[in-house]
Amino acid sequence: MICIRRRFLATGAASFLGALLAPFNVHAARPERIYIQPLGGIAKRRVRLVQSALATLFGCDVRVLRRRRLPRSAWYKPRRRYRAEKLLAYLEKQLPRDGTRILGLTDRDISTTNGDIPDWGVLGLANLDATACVISSYRAKRRSRGRRHTDERLAKVAVHEIGHTLGLEHCPTVGCLMEDARGKVVTTDREYDICHKCRAELKRRGHRLPKAKMPWPKPAARKARRRRRGGARTSRPGRPRGSGSRR
Ligand SMILES: [Zn+2]
Ligand SMILES: [Zn+2]
Repeated sequence: MICIRRRFLATGAASFLGALLAPFNVHAARPERIYIQPLGGIAKRRVRLVQSALATLFGCDVRVLRRRRLPRSAWYKPRRRYRAEKLLAYLEKQLPRDGTRILGLTDRDISTTNGDIPDWGVLGLANLDATACVISSYRAKRRSRGRRHTDERLAKVAVHEIGHTLGLEHCPTVGCLMEDARGKVVTTDREYDICHKCRAELKRRGHRLPKAKMPWPKPAARKARRRRRGGARTSRPGRPRGSGSRR
C-alpha cells in the first residue's frame, strides 16, 4: 500500500521560534475556528461528514467555505494529480481572518515528495503546528468495504491532519488517531480516538478537547457485529481502486 499521511516539520528559525513560544500557549489566545475548503467535485455528503467529525472531536466552530476549483498551480502533469504541498501554500492564502486552521478537501489524487521518491501519493498532508492541511478521498477508497467505510476513513484522516496543525506529531499508541499510517490506509481502520497522551499534549498547547462520542464505531465492536451476523467476513473485500503501481 502506498498511501501515507505526512506532515511537514517546520524548519530553521520558524521551528526554533515555535519551540520557544510553545510553553506560553500562543494558540490559546484565540478560540479555534476551522474552515473547510472544498476543492473541485468532492461530494457535499463528505464535506458535511468531515465538518461534523472535526466539530465533535475538537469541540470548536467548523465552517465550510465556498467551493473552489483545484488551483492549476498545484497540477502535476507527469502523474496527472495535484501536489499536496502546493495545495497547502494555496490554502494558507484562503484562510479567512477569523479562522485559525484550514482544511482542503478533494476527491482527486494528491502527492508529495517522500525521501528519495519525488512524487508519492498521499491520503493527506499537513504543516506541523501551522494553519493548513489537505486531505483526499482518492486513496481512502482502497480496499474499502463501501461508501460508508470510505467516508469514515476520510473523517479520521481529517482529524489526524488537523491534529498535526495543532502541533501533534505521530503517536506510537495503537488505535490513536495520530498513529502513523506507515503507507497503509487500512491503519485508519483500527483507529478510534485521540489517546490520553495526545490529549494531554494538546491541553499543554492550550487546546482542551471535549469528551465526545466518536462518530464511528469502535473497531472491536465492528468485528463483533460481523460475527453476530454469522459470517467471518460478510462484506466484499473490495478491489483497490486507482493505479496500484503509482507512488
Ligand atoms: Zn500524519
Ligand atoms: Zn496518541
